[in-house]
Amino acid sequence: MITEEKQHIDQKLVSILNQVFDPEIPVLSIIDMGVVRNAVIENDMVKVQITTTYSGCPAMDVIGDDIKKAMKEAGYESEIELILSPAWTTDWITPKGRKALENYGIAAPLEADADKEALLGNKKLVKCTNCGSMNTKLVSQFGSTACKALFKCNDCLEPFDYFKCLK
Ligand SMILES: [Zn+2]
Repeated sequence: MITEEKQHIDQKLVSILNQVFDPEIPVLSIIDMGVVRNAVIENDMVKVQITTTYSGCPAMDVIGDDIKKAMKEAGYESEIELILSPAWTTDWITPKGRKALENYGIAAPLEADADKEALLGNKKLVKCTNCGSMNTKLVSQFGSTACKALFKCNDCLEPFDYFKCLK
């Protein structure tokens, strides 16, 4: 039985799910994103539970379809269930996922308090993804999507997205 509290992903399914990427951030697998709560094989049927990330992001339907496609290619029929509780937070992004985000040019989320300070423009806490400088400034609360804020580096002058903290 699937329990909602604890994350459980069948080892056989991890490698398949690792090939499904967040549609908005093509370098971040849904495993590294932390949206897969459970994935089990029951009577030849794969059951996957995913959590919504940002409620404003229409990506979840796409992710569900992509999971079904990946499972089919691996020889499994699958059922996708969207669960709302517990709610996803940016804490669920794995260390590997954070690294991938940075390499992709999106600064990974800070701790909640630091996030607030950074988004209010009170403190320089967001590291430039291009040159690593902390001398950055907030340009807009909203970047390329609602889940990101736009920053600009004062040293190399490159603009970059910051993935906002969500709890
Ligand atoms: Zn820079």
